[in-house]
This record gives sequence, C-alpha cells and structure tokens, in this order.
Amino acid sequence: MLKIGAVRWRGKCSRHPMFDPFDGGRGAVKGGCPRCLSLVEICELHQKTMALMRTFAPPVEKKKKVSPLSLLQIGLFEEE
Ligand SMILES: [Zn+2]
Repeated sequence: MLKIGAVRWRGKCSRHPMFDPFDGGRGAVKGGCPRCLSLVEICELHQKTMALMRTFAPPVEKKKKVSPLSLLQIGLFEEE
C-alpha cells in the first residue's frame, strides 16, 4: 500500500519571482534559468502524479449531506 500525505510546497526563483510554470511552461523560462526550469519540471511531475493517482483511483463523489452542525448554526440566526 502507498500512502502520501497532503503536501503544501512553495518554490520561487529569486531572479524571476513572478515566473509561474502554469503560464507558458518551459517556453516562458527566461535565458534557460535553471531555477525556473526546475519549477517547470516539478510542476509537470506534480501534474503527472495527480493524473496517475486519479486514473488509479478516481475521486469518489461525496453525497451532499447537511451536517447537523450547520442546521444548528442556521437556527441561531433565524428570527421569528
Ligand atoms: Zn528564474
């Protein structure tokens, strides 16, 4: 079994802090900057990983359920 926890990660190129690998990908990297190219590679691999995970085990659609807590909260603000 494979378990992967939630990962929050940020990477920024100090020379090109505005570079976003989602915008233009490799073609938008200025002067072949290795840091920006690394961000593109990380982004591509992340997207590929996510696609593989969805293919392996498609996300289960959750039924919309009204939680008892939200009913209580609505009750607090109701006026008669
Ligand atoms: Zn850069």
